[in-house]
Amino acid sequence: MTKDFIVLTDRYIAATYARYPIALVRGEGCMVWDSEGKKYCDFVSGLAVNNLGHSHPRIIEAIRRQAGELIHVSNLYHIPQQTELARMLVENSFADKVFFCNSGAEANEAAIKLTRRYYNDRGKGDRYEIITMTNSFHGRTMATITATGQEKFHKGFEPLVPGFKYVPFNDLSAVEAALTKNTCAVMVEPIQGEGGVNLPAEGYLKGLREICDAHNLLLIFDEVQTGIGRTGELFAYENYGAIPDIMTLAKSLGGGVAIGAMLAKGNIIKSFIPGTHAATFGGNPLACSAGIAALKAIMEEGIISNCKQVGAYFIKRLTGLKERYPFILDIRGKGLMIGLELDFPGKDITITCMEKGFLINCTMENVLRFLPPLIIGEREVDQLIDILDEIFRGKVPKVS
Ligand SMILES: *Cc1c(COP(=O)(O)O)cnc(C)c1O
Repeated sequence: MTKDFIVLTDRYIAATYARYPIALVRGEGCMVWDSEGKKYCDFVSGLAVNNLGHSHPRIIEAIRRQAGELIHVSNLYHIPQQTELARMLVENSFADKVFFCNSGAEANEAAIKLTRRYYNDRGKGDRYEIITMTNSFHGRTMATITATGQEKFHKGFEPLVPGFKYVPFNDLSAVEAALTKNTCAVMVEPIQGEGGVNLPAEGYLKGLREICDAHNLLLIFDEVQTGIGRTGELFAYENYGAIPDIMTLAKSLGGGVAIGAMLAKGNIIKSFIPGTHAATFGGNPLACSAGIAALKAIMEEGIISNCKQVGAYFIKRLTGLKERYPFILDIRGKGLMIGLELDFPGKDITITCMEKGFLINCTMENVLRFLPPLIIGEREVDQLIDILDEIFRGKVPKVS
């Protein structure tokens, strides 16, 4: 049965993804089931999308209710659900206003366009250069692959969009050295996700804020992966005491429904006047109803404190493994965004985990990445640790 899916996928779907040979058809809480009825504990969460777990009753109810009333209308008209979700985001962040779209890349596109427009409006059209970081990830559109500081995402798609410059993550003096009279912004993930779960060094994000203030630059935080509770705060910047001018969200914002958002301070987002930017589906009633339900659940159900507590426990257990296996180079993370760096490729380990009923991700070839639903418990963590321990035990070279 699964074999049939695979044959049809190969026949009809562009081969942009290297897929695991299973088809997931149902989910509940931290568990998902494949088309043959095999159950998995989900430490991927659709790549930090299903922060509430699968089939959360409030998301289901919100989508069902809204689908029966009105799924989509144009932004030619007022959309109450969009206004309400924006109000909730503004009241819980640094931002004054929100622009809605449908994905992380689109939210970052909006941030890049807003930045250019903001300087243009001030007669400074020559300030268009955005500094981003090596090993960053900002999306797959032309501008966002350009913003992404990893050559593998550029290859074969040149010419790229002009106006981006890369410096190493966690290096403040490299940012200062890269400044020119054309620089307009610094764009950074507070914690790099795709790039291997790289945490900001002590004082790094605050240091970026200071550089931006000193040189009149905008600071853009890409919180597409880190946002909505993932790091033990509603937004990752709250962990580090550095406030951006613009922030982008997507992944878990809609509780599984596609939605993206760009949030900004009022004096900046003022540059988005009618006609400057748009998205047909952006902030439609269905996506925003799901977003409202997801945000309420995150804030009212103790989910962020669970994320903090279980995240700390998870890191402690992984650190225990690291002490026993020298090929584990590093354990790092914040909340439930956690990486385990190996000194060999991790793909085989993800496959063995899958066979044993646990879904985990591997990024940058050798970093096992754990992004479980924020409702996960210590019991599930213990089970995964046992599996990893068993796999790692088999990797230890036998003394002959
Ligand atoms: C996933 C991701 C994106 C891209 O989001 P899409 O919805 O796939 O366009 C951008 N930035 C970060 C930090 C991400 O993790």
